[in-house]
Amino acid sequence: MAFTYEFTQESKELLQKFLECDSPSGCESEATHFFADTVKSCCDEMRRDAMGNVTAILNPGSDVRTMISAHADEVGLQITSVTAEGMLRFRPVGGIDPASLCGQQVRILSSRGGKIEGVVARNRALANFDQHGNATVKTSEMWIDTGGKNREEVLQQIEIGDWAVWGSETLFLSDNVIKAKALDNKVGLFILSEAMRSLARHRPAQGIYAVATVQEEIGLRGMAVVAQAIKPRTGLVVDMAHATDIPGGDAACSGELSLGKGVALTRNADNTPELASILRKTADRNGIPYQITVGRNPTGGTDASRLQLFGGDTMVADISVPCRHMHTPTECCDIRDIVSAIELLVSAILDPAK
Ligand SMILES: [Zn+2]
Repeated sequence: MAFTYEFTQESKELLQKFLECDSPSGCESEATHFFADTVKSCCDEMRRDAMGNVTAILNPGSDVRTMISAHADEVGLQITSVTAEGMLRFRPVGGIDPASLCGQQVRILSSRGGKIEGVVARNRALANFDQHGNATVKTSEMWIDTGGKNREEVLQQIEIGDWAVWGSETLFLSDNVIKAKALDNKVGLFILSEAMRSLARHRPAQGIYAVATVQEEIGLRGMAVVAQAIKPRTGLVVDMAHATDIPGGDAACSGELSLGKGVALTRNADNTPELASILRKTADRNGIPYQITVGRNPTGGTDASRLQLFGGDTMVADISVPCRHMHTPTECCDIRDIVSAIELLVSAILDPAK
């Protein structure tokens, strides 16, 4: 019988809890710990490596290893210095458009303990204008204001090198479209957890390695380590893909991809054709909606490319959820695409169509 997944109130609450984990690249433990807590009761073994990747394993004794993975990190900021007035200068961690920072609320993960609220600001009087009269926005001209009165007071609350993330709230814009920061890739971790819990109930004979990877947004670094440690035969990488159903969405360059039309399957060099074909046939057989895309580039952009290079002869495929406004505080996804991704991931492992 085909595997189906129902997105219930319990699913919504679990997704919300993943979204509440703040995990900028290099500081992912909130998300990786929560992932481990969520799946620990259904796996046989749990591993954490020195870099911070967390792997939950079913059937660790099997020689046939299938990896399912999602990166646990999100784009963020890092505090670089504090001015005499108590304003925090910062650098981006991961690909962030400076225009998506100005005027935003942020949350600093203080190594002195707790989370400190702040806002990103700039001096409008010093704004530069281009030839069309539009103000240009540079990260180097911005700061974070935490309401502190001077450098000394602010440094009692935070330390240089502390990370920060957007402070935007999660909400449903419509029945199916959810808006939040870091849907990329908390949605992936949610899919991974729900898939692992379903797989554990069905006990497939092969080894299943569900990995929450770190440092994806800053060079696909965690996967390079964990791929070499596990050396899976097959790897399915769950991540977000840029939706093109927006004004100026570049379908000509990266293919059409819309919210609500199903999970995205990618055709590019990172995706092994035999495995991509299995995914497509499995989706067809089970009536799971999917969209074919080519990704933004011929290769790279997700952990799939690293797994392919470092897994030691691994068949690899992306399983992606279309996402609008990627790497902003207002990323948008459609719950129906998340459901399609879970159904395809589990079906492709339990009963792959060849
Ligand atoms: Zn991602």
